[in-house]
Amino acid sequence: MAALLVIAPGPTANGDLHLGHLAGPFLSADVCARYARATGRDTLFGTGVHFTQNYIVTTARRLGEQPEELRQRAAEQVEATLAAAGIVPDGFVRFDERYLKTVRTFFERLHGEGHLRLRKVKFPYLPDTGEYLTDAYVRGGCPVCLAEGCAGLCESCGHWIASGELLDPRSTRYPELPVELREKEVLVLPLEEHRPALASYFARLAGTMRPRLAQLVEELMARRLPDYPITLPIDWGIPAPFAETPGQVLYSDTETVAWSLHAVALAAESRGEVPGDEERHWALEAGPEVVYFFGSDASFAFALAGTAMLLALGGLALPAHFVTNEFYELDSDKFSTSRGHVVTGRQLTAEVPRDLARYYLAATGPDYQRTNFTRAAMDRVCGQRLVEPWNRVAAKAEAHLDRGPLPVSARSRHAAALSAERFAAALNPRRFSLSSAAATLTEQLGRLDRWEVTDDDAGDFWHELDLFLRCAAPLLVDLAAEALPDDAIPAEHTATTVRPRALPRLTTRARGGGR
Ligand SMILES: [Zn+2]
Repeated sequence: MAALLVIAPGPTANGDLHLGHLAGPFLSADVCARYARATGRDTLFGTGVHFTQNYIVTTARRLGEQPEELRQRAAEQVEATLAAAGIVPDGFVRFDERYLKTVRTFFERLHGEGHLRLRKVKFPYLPDTGEYLTDAYVRGGCPVCLAEGCAGLCESCGHWIASGELLDPRSTRYPELPVELREKEVLVLPLEEHRPALASYFARLAGTMRPRLAQLVEELMARRLPDYPITLPIDWGIPAPFAETPGQVLYSDTETVAWSLHAVALAAESRGEVPGDEERHWALEAGPEVVYFFGSDASFAFALAGTAMLLALGGLALPAHFVTNEFYELDSDKFSTSRGHVVTGRQLTAEVPRDLARYYLAATGPDYQRTNFTRAAMDRVCGQRLVEPWNRVAAKAEAHLDRGPLPVSARSRHAAALSAERFAAALNPRRFSLSSAAATLTEQLGRLDRWEVTDDDAGDFWHELDLFLRCAAPLLVDLAAEALPDDAIPAEHTATTVRPRALPRLTTRARGGGR
């Protein structure tokens, strides 16, 4: 089977990960990669941090820090939070010489093969300071949905908003200064030139795109596709290596594909491959299945513009699936680094065993719509649906510890196959859904909990319990590590006997934690 490349694009390096990040792309990507590996699939999982958006500059200004310090600190925090939540990528993208080289090489190729055009583009401009304003440097109204926000990706409607098209633009740093529109020549990728290829690509994806992505694609394709700037006349970013645009930088949001190639290359090297061509694992002839996990507001940058770049270059695999998610709220308010009510994965896993945190984030994750996190609901749901039933199941199973190998019936082999099929339906990349994985886990655990085990069917019970643990392992990482000799999920259900063993229990408070 083709290799699976799992990519969770890095967050902007201006703060730690909050629970919204975890419950959205990162836990999903981790669970997807763990499950694929357990079924014997060659899998590479890459993530990291994105270091070049000018949001890092605006956040650093607000915090009175240097942007370089902020992004280094943020990268360390993100790595620590992923580890605390049991999210284990194979490759983690950092800002270093090799990353810069990957990005430059990628754009030199795109430019060298004639895919970029020099165009005059209008930008908001501050005559008082001589600065062009892009993305985080400028606020105004979204010309598509009228929401207030910065230029670039609109959090509200998902469209990409050119800085010069923002309604009533104002500088975020000097909101009182007058802003004018000024033209500047930049290199762009004219997305409209790729319309036919994009249209047939999205037609192939129509069956699996989640509703909001499907809607965005429909809206985008119904109008002229924008000229997407590759270079910008600002001074924060990777210097653009082109003679036509002296002093300009590469637009950070266009680094998506280069960033992804690099993430996968790092992932491959972490398992011992010699560093080489960054594109090797994406090559069409390698035939990988590429799956992205990101918040819906990143859809334009990855699904539309990223795919257009891949189509332009040719020879590289196009993403097979985009698993998008919506906002996750804390006590019915938006998780936001800037509003200061961050609940990080580290804070939560210091108080609660991380298996419980993973289970609850999965159960309530914003797969299809905005969902809500409350600590009280988490305690109640984890207690009633996971900890208590599991501990009853474990106690019931251990009542048969001394009886040696127990026979497994054909009926039980069939039941195990059906149960495994339910988990596969939730955890395969094509229809991946964390919330349905958690629902399946809850349902199957409930079935084991209701089972009145006798001496005659104890073997069947143990057999189905063992399969349950293997399928739940991508979510309940610590329980599975303690309870299972290995985490393989069998493709065929052929066991004729099973040997009972001691089982760990779940608790509701982290070791050394508690409130
Ligand atoms: Zn909008």
